[in-house]
Amino acid sequence: MRYLTSFNTDLLEIIECDVLIVGSGIAGLFTALNIDDSLKVCLISKTDLKTNNSYLAQGGIAVTFNKKDFQGHIDDTLKAGAFYNDLTAVRILVEEGRKNVEKLIEYGVDFDKIDGEISFTREGGHLERRIIHKKDYTGKEIIEKLIQVVEQRDNIHCYEDTFLVDVLTCDNSVDGAIAVINDKECLIKTNHAVLATGGVGRLFLNSTNSSISTGDGIAAAYRAGAVIEDMEFVQFHPTPFHSNGEAFLISEAVRGEGGILRNDSGEAFMGKYHSLKDLAPRDIVSRSILKEQQLQGNKNIYLDVTHFEEGYFEKRFPSIFSYCISQNVDPRKEWIPVNPSAHYLMGGIKTDLFGRTNIEGLYSCGEAARTGVQGANRLASNSLSEGLVFGNRVANVINESKKNDGNYVSVINEESSELVTEYKKDIVILKTIMDETANILRTRKKLSSAKDRIRTLEKKYEDVYSYKKEFLEFKNMIIVASLIIDMALKRKKSLGSHYLENDDE
Ligand SMILES: Cc1cc2nc3c(=O)[nH]c(=O)nc-3n(C[C@H](O)[C@H](O)[C@H](O)COP(=O)(O)OP(=O)(O)OC[C@H]3O[C@@H](n4cnc5c(N)ncnc54)[C@H](O)[C@@H]3O)c2cc1C
Repeated sequence: MRYLTSFNTDLLEIIECDVLIVGSGIAGLFTALNIDDSLKVCLISKTDLKTNNSYLAQGGIAVTFNKKDFQGHIDDTLKAGAFYNDLTAVRILVEEGRKNVEKLIEYGVDFDKIDGEISFTREGGHLERRIIHKKDYTGKEIIEKLIQVVEQRDNIHCYEDTFLVDVLTCDNSVDGAIAVINDKECLIKTNHAVLATGGVGRLFLNSTNSSISTGDGIAAAYRAGAVIEDMEFVQFHPTPFHSNGEAFLISEAVRGEGGILRNDSGEAFMGKYHSLKDLAPRDIVSRSILKEQQLQGNKNIYLDVTHFEEGYFEKRFPSIFSYCISQNVDPRKEWIPVNPSAHYLMGGIKTDLFGRTNIEGLYSCGEAARTGVQGANRLASNSLSEGLVFGNRVANVINESKKNDGNYVSVINEESSELVTEYKKDIVILKTIMDETANILRTRKKLSSAKDRIRTLEKKYEDVYSYKKEFLEFKNMIIVASLIIDMALKRKKSLGSHYLENDDE
């Protein structure tokens, strides 16, 4: 399927710009701010500007200020990524991190300091303290400040509640995009489109992600012919707190500051599984939790911070503290129940080191992109830095490129809304399939059965068209779910976050 909807470009309202940026997370906003102010930028976001994964980031940004630690940061990133990373991309991430963080500070972003100097914390997989943060609401601090600066820029026009449907191409080059604003389709004329649309966590029932994470940008890029890679690598965060169907993240920085995982009998079990204990890479901690749960007859696993110095937890992690209290768990006295959940996608739209895809004028950065930085498993807090470093690189390339004109083709599909009322229950079915099969411990048998079940859903809705955002998301989710399952089936041996319980099955 090339296009998700039906459209006649002659009848659509037109928005013209030099650069279209899809996404108002760290990658989209930072790219927009680095585009030359002589270029007209149109930045669209499918809900409000603040609803995204970046806003939810707690732990911080992994950045090396001291050149002596460059190699250490590179080594830790490669180790977490199961050495599947692109070494040049990792080197760029580490070497260009500081200058981009300094730009953030110029934009007014504030990080915690001790005696006037930025303070660094640790998270899983890092052998050094190299994570800068604002208490436990680093993402909120960044996004709020970036939005303030974006709103002051005359060349950047933000469109909220605007859904990217498809990227239009002609001769393998970007011609524009179709978007839905207030249930009405419009044509965005541009020759440069940046997909900073984030991840896919909401393909799973249990996820830490914001509601926007349904892989729309990846699906649109795929339909336009962009190369998509490494979708089998989905990271599950070990320690979200589950309540009322939502998974609230308990940041890894809590373990970085001394939090200890315990089983129901109180045993600090991580030493049995890895020499870094509670600070082992995420995939290992998540699998260890599942194994420990199985050994214990599915009893809860907990995070213990009761030994923290009096007053420290609530001061350092105020949001996590108030969430726990709202759930009637006082972390100063009680262990916090935790359960792994889908958290981050390492794969995505394949780009070069400047965020360029195989389609001229189409770029991607942030979680939607597969730059090669994250390998088969992301090192904690490397994603905010990836959004900054590669967002800046995308902007630099666009600043140097030329404009050309569009050539629009209309696509009229047969409208059908018969099944449009039924899709909501199929969203839950799709998420359940993903939870049961593309999870932390996979088997080829379950993945194969998922492939057939997803194909059935795909066929059912093949010729159904509607402009409802939720339905468009659902159709994208089907595409992205198939990409994950197909790529997982192709990778026959365990690697990083793709873990097969029985490789030979
Ligand atoms: C709870 C949580 C905590 C985290 N903590 C950290 C941390 O401490 N450090 C770290 O490095 N990483 C952390 N991460 C990961 C990190 O936050 C994300 O990987 C990163 O913020 C992704 O940024 P992004 O700009 O690529 O995407 P996002 O911030 O998710 O933004 C995506 C944007 O795309 C828009 N969009 C999507 N589809 C469409 C569409 N069809 N049309 C229009 N717009 C669309 C959305 O509206 C949104 O504005 C955390 C993630 C979560 C969920």
